[in-house]
Amino acid sequence: MKTQAMTAFGKPLEALELEPLQPGPGEALVRVTRAGVCHSDLHIHDGHFDLGNDAKLPVMIEMPAILGHEIEGEVAALGAGVSGPAPGTRVAVYPWLGCGKCTVCQRGDQQLCVQARRALGVAKWGGMAEFVHVPDAEALIPLGALAPGVGAVAMCSGLTAFSALKKLGAPPPEEPILLLGLGGVGLMGLALAKALLPNPIVAVDIDPAKRQAALKRGAAEAIDPAAADAVQDFLKRTGGAAGAIDFVGAPATYTFGTSAVRRGGRYVIVGLFGGAVNVPLAPIPMRALTIAGSYVGRLDEARELISLMRAGKVETPILEERPLTSANEALDDLRAGKVLGRIILTP
Ligand SMILES: [Zn+2]
Ligand SMILES: [Zn+2]
Repeated sequence: MKTQAMTAFGKPLEALELEPLQPGPGEALVRVTRAGVCHSDLHIHDGHFDLGNDAKLPVMIEMPAILGHEIEGEVAALGAGVSGPAPGTRVAVYPWLGCGKCTVCQRGDQQLCVQARRALGVAKWGGMAEFVHVPDAEALIPLGALAPGVGAVAMCSGLTAFSALKKLGAPPPEEPILLLGLGGVGLMGLALAKALLPNPIVAVDIDPAKRQAALKRGAAEAIDPAAADAVQDFLKRTGGAAGAIDFVGAPATYTFGTSAVRRGGRYVIVGLFGGAVNVPLAPIPMRALTIAGSYVGRLDEARELISLMRAGKVETPILEERPLTSANEALDDLRAGKVLGRIILTP
């Protein structure tokens, strides 16, 4: 099969001809039709995640590797014992597969499994190829007539935003919710928040184009966090946000966001930009803040999200299709912050 494969960290991807694994019992093979390009792909391509204070979390992966964990396609073949979805069915592939056996996986949190990770496009070959081998056919989620590419982005940016929103609980409907960072995941978060929560949604981004995009897509207001007195002004007008989701995960967003949340509020970090902050501890109990992390999402959440989308409850994200052969350019553009919404590669 044709691929855009990673042969070394930091080096351009290469057009390699590789042999996909054939599906064994309980497994499947999917012909890829769309693969989203995500910021995590940049970190994996770099070979590390930035932990701040010059510390780095190395990526463990065998070369050649195939990036791409936002995968949509058609079932090509099913292994023994798998009854469906039938070959030819349009599916999204839930990529965050764990070992399937440990207590974490058994309770449905396989995205958090620490043993024998099988995440597609991370530990196993992903979607930047003509085919993807799926080691657990449970990961196939039928898409029906959902618009092309939407199922792909649902598996990472959509699922990440959906799972993070669930962690905010049900805040009083008149209180604002902050979304920090309106890139691909943030814009998905905005579309889902509009669908799921009655609250006014406030977008926070230093980029005027992203603030504009957020306003156009239903944000009640858009704040430039770099403006003088931005936090004080927001607190004075609103009394603070009931909850916030940090789609960047950088010191600047953390500092702004945790200051803009009211007492008893929840702050959920999903962005992996990295860095470190020096956190004064006393205000956390005194302000009764909940600071939580959220990493992608569960398989049952992914199925729930696709159902919502199939029911037409979520506005379609901004997608830009490009051929798989331009994968390197897509990574470069994303790295340079030149992408609004999501780039989708088509093999
Ligand atoms: Zn991703
Ligand atoms: Zn496990």
